[in-house]
Amino acid sequence: TTIPASKARASMKTVGILGGGQLARMMALSAAPLGLRFLVLDTAADACAGQFAPMVVGDYTDEAALAEFASKVDVATFDFENVPAESAQWLATRVPVFPSPRALAVAQDRLAEKTLFRELGIPVPDFADIDSRAALDAAVVTLGTPCILKTRRLGYDGKGQFRIKSPADVDAAWDALGAQAGTVGLILEGFVAFQRELSVIAVRGQDGEFRAWPLTENWHVDGVLSASLAPACVDDAMNAVALSHARKIADALDYVGVFALELFCRDGELLANELAPRVHNSGHWTIEGSETSQFQNHLRAVLGLPLGDTRMLGVACMLNWIGAMPDAAPVLREASGHWHDYGKQPRTGRKVGHATLRAESVVELADALQRVGAVLGRDAQVAPVIARLRG
Ligand code: AMP
Repeated sequence: TTIPASKARASMKTVGILGGGQLARMMALSAAPLGLRFLVLDTAADACAGQFAPMVVGDYTDEAALAEFASKVDVATFDFENVPAESAQWLATRVPVFPSPRALAVAQDRLAEKTLFRELGIPVPDFADIDSRAALDAAVVTLGTPCILKTRRLGYDGKGQFRIKSPADVDAAWDALGAQAGTVGLILEGFVAFQRELSVIAVRGQDGEFRAWPLTENWHVDGVLSASLAPACVDDAMNAVALSHARKIADALDYVGVFALELFCRDGELLANELAPRVHNSGHWTIEGSETSQFQNHLRAVLGLPLGDTRMLGVACMLNWIGAMPDAAPVLREASGHWHDYGKQPRTGRKVGHATLRAESVVELADALQRVGAVLGRDAQVAPVIARLRG
């Protein structure tokens, strides 16, 4: 018997992804074996996910582009969290959208997310809503210095932030960001003298099932992620507290999909910094370092499929490549060295790829990092991870 082509592939779903960067690219690569098709909407025709998935090129507020996108997908999700909330809502009236526009709206706003964390009993850095210069002056007195002025929305990788080291910096901070008080809004945060930065990568399904990968420790350079280590070298109790914070937030938002909760660890206490409503750079190690990657689990959640196991396969370290790709050979020579080139043009400050090294033990991982760091001239990048592993 011949099966008509349309019927034969009726079960092949198309996932629409708003944003066509490396996160969309890795989503498509991870879940292609599930028999999915993808459609990417991005403002740039050369977005790197377009090397693997058909694209609609257009602005996220362009109704014609959104309508074309909506007409061709079964479900929509994000690689980019700053899609305007109105666009997400508009889409949600036409196709299922995960995470929901409400969860997206909270996570887009540093004030709304910190307010939610506090309501849920999750410790946060001191913060204040800043809607005027007078409010800033008052809050700098209440919170003390140092503190950080941030835009409520549209900031990422340390952008839209100004560090106020002493009251003398308030003028400069207001000159830099004051104009945005009336547009994206501002928040002032007390400076946290943390010893470590950690993140929880977690996933929640449509039925409320929750799973999380072990805590990850992260190192940043100039506000941009440089290296991630999993599992973080913390005790079980801290791991459990972090996962319980993540679960409370996910349940409160009725969240569907993968998200990252960024935490500061100060004197043994965890403070919640930020919620990223999407797969996250600090979870890239899950591709080779765990049973199911964050990318595939995100799409399983979005499609209502059973979630995959999040257990780790050994220990893993991810190194980000910023600006330009180094030589791949030293990583490829490692027994568990994995290379990811996002197919992007080199550009200062741009995330162009990453490597993940995996090992059976922390001793082996530290040795592999040392070899790779030395050959690539990246000793400074691997040094804090090696110190933690050997510490
Ligand atoms: P964010 O965009 O909020 O994740 O901030 C980027 C980086 O700036 C963080 O990873 C921290 O290294 C640093 N940072 C942000 N907020 C604070 C804070 N309240 N205290 C100390 N460092 C911070």
